[in-house]
Amino acid sequence: MNGWSLIYEGFLPTEEGLREALCTLGNGVFATRGAAPEAVADEVHYPGTYAAGVYDRLRTDIAGRRIENEDLVNLPNWLVLTFRPEGGDWLDLGSVEVLSYVQELDLRTGVLSRAFRFRDADGRTTGVRQRRLVSMAEPHLAALETTIVPEDWSGRLEVRSGLDGTVTNSGVPRYRSLRGDHLVPRSSRTLGGDAISLVVETRDSHIRIGEAARTRLLRVDEEIEAERTVSEGEGSIAHVVAAEVRAGEEITVEKVVALVTARANALYEPGADAEKAVERAGAFERLLERHVLAWNRLWQRFDIKIEDSERAQTIVRLHVFHLLQTVSTNTIDLDVGVPARGLHGEAYRGHVFWDELFIFPLLNVRLPALTRTLLNYRYRRLDEARWAAAREGYEGAMYPWQSGSDGREESQTLHLNPRSARWLPDNSRLQRHINIAVAYNVWQYFQVTEDWEFLRFRGAPMLVEIARFWASVATYDRASGRHVMRGVMGPDEYHDAYPDRDEPGLDNNAYTNVMVVWLLCRTLELFERLPEHHRLELWESLRLSREELDRWEDISRTMLVPHHDGVISQFEGYENLLELDWEDYRTRYADIHRLDRILEAEGDTANRYKVSKQADVLMLFYLLSADELRELFERLGYELSAETISRTVDYYLARTSHGSTLSRIVHSWVLARSDRERSWEQFSQALESDVADVQGGTTPEGIHLGAMAGTVDLLQRGYAGLETRGDVLWFGPALPKKLHALEFEIHYRGHRLQVRITPERLRLSTIASDVAPIRVGFDDEVVELSPGSTAEWPLTG
Ligand code: BGC
Repeated sequence: MNGWSLIYEGFLPTEEGLREALCTLGNGVFATRGAAPEAVADEVHYPGTYAAGVYDRLRTDIAGRRIENEDLVNLPNWLVLTFRPEGGDWLDLGSVEVLSYVQELDLRTGVLSRAFRFRDADGRTTGVRQRRLVSMAEPHLAALETTIVPEDWSGRLEVRSGLDGTVTNSGVPRYRSLRGDHLVPRSSRTLGGDAISLVVETRDSHIRIGEAARTRLLRVDEEIEAERTVSEGEGSIAHVVAAEVRAGEEITVEKVVALVTARANALYEPGADAEKAVERAGAFERLLERHVLAWNRLWQRFDIKIEDSERAQTIVRLHVFHLLQTVSTNTIDLDVGVPARGLHGEAYRGHVFWDELFIFPLLNVRLPALTRTLLNYRYRRLDEARWAAAREGYEGAMYPWQSGSDGREESQTLHLNPRSARWLPDNSRLQRHINIAVAYNVWQYFQVTEDWEFLRFRGAPMLVEIARFWASVATYDRASGRHVMRGVMGPDEYHDAYPDRDEPGLDNNAYTNVMVVWLLCRTLELFERLPEHHRLELWESLRLSREELDRWEDISRTMLVPHHDGVISQFEGYENLLELDWEDYRTRYADIHRLDRILEAEGDTANRYKVSKQADVLMLFYLLSADELRELFERLGYELSAETISRTVDYYLARTSHGSTLSRIVHSWVLARSDRERSWEQFSQALESDVADVQGGTTPEGIHLGAMAGTVDLLQRGYAGLETRGDVLWFGPALPKKLHALEFEIHYRGHRLQVRITPERLRLSTIASDVAPIRVGFDDEVVELSPGSTAEWPLTG
């Protein structure tokens, strides 16, 4: 790692899956894992290409049930490229002597390269250099350049360059007993001599995907007249190109690929459009030039500099890089959400969860148009959410815990515990708090952008329908004189039921209850802020009534928040659970991240213990400032003392196994003010989540975008203390000792603002333009900042 690149030395089959995920290249429209072009899916390799929004459903009979799953589909592998000397074997690094091997992912330019030398069984030595890109500038194009050097042999070289549509979704071992044959071949053909094309269609959703590939052989930039044959199979096509080579002479194979799906804009037909794109595409160098320029522009907006720690710096950039490869400027205008595991693998089937909550704050101040796109994904699925609420007997709209193509609930009903090999009921859909995340994201986006247009026509209906949903979940409990909410799950997935109850779900999850109060308050506030005619419009179109608003007001003052032993209880009855013997489990198991699976395999259940997979109550301190929380508690007639806050933080920190990568983000955040060094520790561990695959095998199945974006956001909002509140952009830096300087740029209400923070100083300057001044605040002081000016404050540790 050198600040801008990830470098791997040596070919390690056991690490290949992890490298493939971390070296994925994408452009916000499609992404391809960093698999070796000569490889097919096997125990070591898993080539995978996924396009935003391309899902398909399949049904499987298993464990006596019919299971239906919607997957982000693994598209035809366009990388396919291998070679052999005449009479020799096709390249397979597993069966030759590898003399050297280096792989590098250059984050600045979005280029993945490999360089290796090997000796084959017949003693021939060959050197290979490879570069690839998935164009950030031309979102349907990708390219792979391979330079082959026959070091000590001459003769005929055969290169095979293809498109393979026989791939299936089989990247996650525990899903393998479920169907994954999503692609149906439609057609393949050769085009104008040097190109081939392939069209496939998804089995159930009937989305067409067209790929085309142009392969040229070059010697010192001159194209070689090579001999070509075509080999075709059911769902695959390849060119085999042959040429004479001489020892020591380099030969370059340039493969340029177009991938177009029926989800693209400005489209005639995916096959025809892919062919057109590849015919028009420039040479590798030309594509590279435009691609690098596009990345430069993104880095200008998104880079965040931290001084002194090269590893942390590289990982932070890697996180930004993967976020932008999943959603970027190319995504704006597409109808897609952010899959929790990126476009990098098949874990969680490419579904969209509440992880947006950890991602949007970063986008809001860098590329708010993108947040708007992603919020529109939710807006367009509001009717589906309304239908889901009605079906369960609720009012308003109930968004699904896992969302895919059309916004129906995609959470599975059964899941496999790989430890016990048992299929178990999956109740995770009871995490209705996803609805809070959707509403919170709408509100935050508006806070940063003041995008009234969005708020009026799209945001407000979502807020109202979600508020309505919660108001219909809440019931009045005479005994306590409070409103209660039963039968839900909080973010901690270890707890989905009471150990002694048959029905799944828990009562009065503190996180959910308090956030619902927050939501009701914000929705009521919205009515005060909207201009009269818009308020009326909303009132009419959503058929609101005074009684309904009065009920929201009432619930927002009487919601129950459970407490025990001077801390906020995760849910009602939490105090009755058993303490787990952590030491015992730590000694008996090398890795206890997934205590739920361990306990189930032992015939026990996490539901019986005071153990959390991830932050639950503490999410409150992540989403709301201490002041905001105190206000909400006061409104409810509870006292929230500093003592309760610190006891609550310590209490849950000691009982969390961090079975979700989101967990450390939240813990680092809640400690950012009270214990900077411990916060930094959690932050440093969060940074390692994917690069070091800390959960032992999850990253090869897809990166964790929430944790990736969350770490960057921790720097920006957590340690820099950036907050948008009451039309003021606030800063409250609190740098941990190991963080010597932080520098980044944000976009706020038309301003491009440069921020530099050192332990001694906070410096803000805005680029000259003709927009109206903004108000920025530090401590209790608010100043006006006009374009082209600077504000500075001394800091005192
Ligand atoms: C976490 C959820 C998260 C999901 C997708 C799960 O392991 O518990 O909070 O939304 O992964 O990232």
